[in-house]
Amino acid sequence: MIVFRQLFDPQSSTYTYLLGDSASGEALLIDPVFEQVRRDAALAHELGLHLTWTLDTHVHADHVTGAWLMKQRAGSRIALSATSGAAGADRLLNNRDRITFGKRYVEVRFTPGHTNGCVTYVLDDQSMAFTGDCLLVRGSGRTDFQQGDPHAMFASVREHIFSLPATCLLYPAHDYRGITATSVEEERRSHPRLGGDIAVDDFAGYRKNLNLPHPKQIDVAVPANLKCGQAAAQNWLDLDSEWGPSSFEQRHQFTLQATYATGQGVGGGTLVPGLRGALLKNWQITANLTTGSGTPRTPTYRVTSVAGITGTVRPDLTGASLDDIPDGFAQQKPCHGRDE
Ligand code: FE
Repeated sequence: MIVFRQLFDPQSSTYTYLLGDSASGEALLIDPVFEQVRRDAALAHELGLHLTWTLDTHVHADHVTGAWLMKQRAGSRIALSATSGAAGADRLLNNRDRITFGKRYVEVRFTPGHTNGCVTYVLDDQSMAFTGDCLLVRGSGRTDFQQGDPHAMFASVREHIFSLPATCLLYPAHDYRGITATSVEEERRSHPRLGGDIAVDDFAGYRKNLNLPHPKQIDVAVPANLKCGQAAAQNWLDLDSEWGPSSFEQRHQFTLQATYATGQGVGGGTLVPGLRGALLKNWQITANLTTGSGTPRTPTYRVTSVAGITGTVRPDLTGASLDDIPDGFAQQKPCHGRDE
C-alpha cells in the first residue's frame, strides 16, 4: 500500500510530499524544506517509514531544500536532475530514470521551462504526479530567471504532463490559495494559460509582459540549493529556542570567549542569519578573535553576550546538534514562484 502525506511550509507556501511503501517501509520525500526537516523526519518515523531518498523537483529560488539536512539526520540519499547544475547529490537523474522505494517507483520526466533542471515525478501506476513549479494549480512557475523559458514550459506541460491519464492527480510545489491538488483533466480544461487550444506564442507573450519583482530569497536560496542545501557553516550557534530572530536582515553584535587546547582568546563579531534566517540553528558565527594564544585546534567557544538579545546562550558552540530544531520563527514575506 502507498502511504501518502502532503505537508506544507507556511513561510514559502511549499508543499512537501511523503511517499512510502508500507510493505517495505521505504519512503521518498519530495521537495523537503530546510526548516521543516525535524517535522518531516518525525512524521516518517511515526509512520514506520525509512526515508531512502529526498527528491527535489528543481533548484528552488524561494526556500532552501532540506535534502542535505535530512541526509545528516535520517541517512536519506539526495537525488535531483542531472540538468540542475547542483553539486552534492548522491544521484543525478536523467529523463525516464526510476527511483524505487520498496516495490514501487517514481519515474522522472524532464519538464524544463521554469528552470533547466525541472522534473516531474510520476508514480509507477500514473495515478499521481509531482509537477514542481512547472505546473501549478491553474498556474506555473516564473520563467524570467534561472534559465526560464516559456516555450520549453509550454512543451513540458502539454507533452509530458497533459499526456498522462486524465484522472492522474497532480501535486504542485506550491499553492498560495490553499488548493492542494488538481488533475490532468482539470488543468487541460480549466488552465487559463496552458489549457484548451491556446497557442505557445500566446503563452510566451503573456509571460514576457509580467514584469515581476526580483525574488527576495533567490540570492540566498539558489546558492544553497546548488549544494543541495548544505549549510554554509559547520559551527552554528546553538541557542535556546525562545530566541526568535525577528527578521531576515537582523544582525547582532556579540562578544565571545574561546578556549583552545593550549590557550584562550576573546573576541567578537557579527551574528548573522544563515540559510534564510528562519531558525536560530542556522545563524552563523563570524568571529574574529582579537587576543589569544595557542593553536586554534578543537576550540570550545562561549558566547558571553549578544547585543540586542536577552536570554540564555548555551555554552557550546561546537557544531550542529540536529535535535531541538525550533519550529519556524520568522514571519518574513517570502518570494514565490507564482506568476498569477
Ligand atoms: Fe521554483
